[in-house]
Amino acid sequence: MLPDRFTGRFSLSGVTVALLVLFGILIAAITPVSSFHAATAQAQETTAAREPETPVDRVALHQALLDLANPWTVMCIAAHPDDEDGASLTVLRHKYGVHTVSVFSTFGEGGQNAVGPQLYEELGAIRARETRAAAEIQGSEPYFLGLKDFGFSKSAEEAFRIWGHEEALRRMVLKIRELRPDVIITNHDTTSGHGHHQATGRLLLEAFDTAADGKRFPEQMAAGVQPWLVKRIFVRIGFGNNSPAATADQGGVVAIDPNEMDPVRGSSFAEQALQALQKHETQGPWPKTVADMARFRNSPDGRLPMIRYRLTRAAQDVTPLPSRAGTFLDDLQLPEPEAAKLSPLKIQSQQLSELENQPAQVMSALIAARGAGVFSATGPGDGPRFKLSQQRLDRALAVVSGVSLTLSSKASVLVPGLPAGFSLNLANNGTRPLTVNKLTLRGFDSERPLEIADQLPPGTDAVKTIEIVTPGNAGISLPSADHLYDGRLFGQRFIATAEVEIDGAKFSVSSISELDVAPAVEIRSITPAPFVFTPQTTGQDIQLTVQVHNHLARTFNGSLAATAPHFFFSSGWGISDLAPGETRAVTLSLHGEPSNAVRKVFTSHTDPHAIDITIRRADSQEEVTRRALPGEYVKASVVKNLQVGFIPSFDQTLEWSLAALGVAAQKLSPSDIQSGALKNYDSIIIDNRGYEAHPELIAANDRLLAYVRDGGNLIVFYHKNNEWNPDPARNRPQLAPYPITLGGERVTDENAPVRFLQPAHRLLNFPNRMRRSDFLGWVQERGLYYPKEWDPHYAALLEMSDPGEPGLRGGLLVGTYGRGRYIYTSLVWYRELRAGVPGAYRMLANMISYGKR
Ligand SMILES: [Zn+2]
Repeated sequence: MLPDRFTGRFSLSGVTVALLVLFGILIAAITPVSSFHAATAQAQETTAAREPETPVDRVALHQALLDLANPWTVMCIAAHPDDEDGASLTVLRHKYGVHTVSVFSTFGEGGQNAVGPQLYEELGAIRARETRAAAEIQGSEPYFLGLKDFGFSKSAEEAFRIWGHEEALRRMVLKIRELRPDVIITNHDTTSGHGHHQATGRLLLEAFDTAADGKRFPEQMAAGVQPWLVKRIFVRIGFGNNSPAATADQGGVVAIDPNEMDPVRGSSFAEQALQALQKHETQGPWPKTVADMARFRNSPDGRLPMIRYRLTRAAQDVTPLPSRAGTFLDDLQLPEPEAAKLSPLKIQSQQLSELENQPAQVMSALIAARGAGVFSATGPGDGPRFKLSQQRLDRALAVVSGVSLTLSSKASVLVPGLPAGFSLNLANNGTRPLTVNKLTLRGFDSERPLEIADQLPPGTDAVKTIEIVTPGNAGISLPSADHLYDGRLFGQRFIATAEVEIDGAKFSVSSISELDVAPAVEIRSITPAPFVFTPQTTGQDIQLTVQVHNHLARTFNGSLAATAPHFFFSSGWGISDLAPGETRAVTLSLHGEPSNAVRKVFTSHTDPHAIDITIRRADSQEEVTRRALPGEYVKASVVKNLQVGFIPSFDQTLEWSLAALGVAAQKLSPSDIQSGALKNYDSIIIDNRGYEAHPELIAANDRLLAYVRDGGNLIVFYHKNNEWNPDPARNRPQLAPYPITLGGERVTDENAPVRFLQPAHRLLNFPNRMRRSDFLGWVQERGLYYPKEWDPHYAALLEMSDPGEPGLRGGLLVGTYGRGRYIYTSLVWYRELRAGVPGAYRMLANMISYGKR
């Protein structure tokens, strides 16, 4: 039970975090842009009578009244999107009306992608949006600390080294001081699992002390927040962490049952939480039903197990957690006089939240409450908490009176210097006349008042259209991947607010619209990226594909130019008659004879601006946009006249890498393997997780082994152990000619030393002599799911390990079978090739040249 009286002693004085708390999405640092000077041309307004609709949305009213009765905030802290405890967040909000927020250390950009080829920042931008969609269902508000997700890590130390311990703490403390949670919960302890999880668990405990300490990060107080003392911190028990399982009758434990039915939404909280989880699509596949999920958690009765948390920190003097606590907030009390002022509204001793079926009575009570000035902070006290309650009263008044405001935009993106049309609809679907006192639209760092009807009879709405010219210097926010960390990830935000009045009760309604800002013609992508060339491909024509998209409402004529200083010829390619909304692929063919000096420039492996692509208008020659393409010259030789077949899995990295090496490469499908003339290929490559991407390949595997036996060279990139090891349930035999069994080991330190076990082996020496330097400059990790056992027919060529761990020798295995050769490698060549790491190209060249003279 939640308390309905709030007494005690938390008294921290006021600060305004209003808008962020209310609208609930982080914009870390909105880049200032010039004001809203630019014009509302031809603002129009209409008022129309309509059939009255269902006057009150019962689910919304139920939630608004629950919210109104609850003054508490609970924060869930997580390392990555999908690490949040969506079930507890859902129960807290939908059952109790707790104000719930979630804070993510990273955007999850170092993770894998189950549904598309995007990785790194592109993946982070997708996961941020997945997180918002999940939060929408959970009824929580997501925020991001924007720390870099550099991939799987085994220790908190590595995370702190890359994040900066103090910087990470500063960001978490700021979020706590801004959002002022009474309770923080997390799935992460300090010693187990992913290094980012451990580091996040440790940061939270440090932030508990630091956020309350006014001497720490004083610049935050200068910017307007106040120190904040969190009352309780809870860490989940037995959920991917080391804590021993506990039962509810042990002290300090909260047990939450996610299986309860939501009385108004017609589904259980567990079902809602699962729907939210499924929004994290890139991290799937997820269970389809709660029963599937229960089975996965070893719960036989189709219900999810109880969620248990242990109290890990409590502020001094806070009321002890009762035994058998049902929520994190049990027995918490607010100090007087706040407790009295924030106590839930009632009608004759009945709580409003139990009266959602009597909206007329509720409405009268809310109007009276607003008239009586309830939830008004008078004198010192917890101003933001009162502010939150005021906003919730505004929301309840809007829902019960059937008043809503909708801001929508006609354009899908904004273009600097051009007008965009917006429409505002203020609707009175209720039964009483509405007085409109003020209507404003805020965006581009300024607020402008708008004219609208000052009276709306019941069953009418007023529509206002407005044009806003995007300032010429507005910050571009597309492509999203380029704006993951600069505060523009979600584009430009507009907030419309109407201040209205019913029967003397004043309240406000708001609506938000977010739009990306794009150049008039956008360069959506340039491929291949990075652009890599080798001795075989210098002097050849080089093909780049540039995707351009017209954001204008009219046809665009212009040209596209590529410049690579001192190196390639640059010339223009016309873009004629690009229709509004059209995306077109323009193929550039570049050529030139590079000099040694210029080769050197491209060997820096640091210059992201090796090639600049520019779009100009045909008429004025004015530059419309520009994007840079990183480039790399790699000294990787291949045997002449190689014919290579490859089976791609999730992206085009392998295709582009083979093109950079200048070899004739043919993309193969499982049916080509089943029935094609494989003997035409000197080498065949199965891309990473190829047997998972193409399950039909398993049935065709005998053909691949026959290809090897007859003299071919088969190269297999990494697979997960559960995608590779023999499994009769999936009709999967041993896939290699002699057994290879994968384990779960990884080497996550991309700088881990690599030892050559057989330095003279031909695979490490021909045509390129592999050196220690070929393993420098790697990204993210060395490899995944290393073989733990292999047949003696294979030679293990490399050994590597994370610091302090035993060496793993299975990363590169090579053996002969019949007259041919077989290579299995669990190193993450695809990541390194995609990042333009020279050593990866040299090793790929050796693998496809293996067995040739
Ligand atoms: Zn995680």
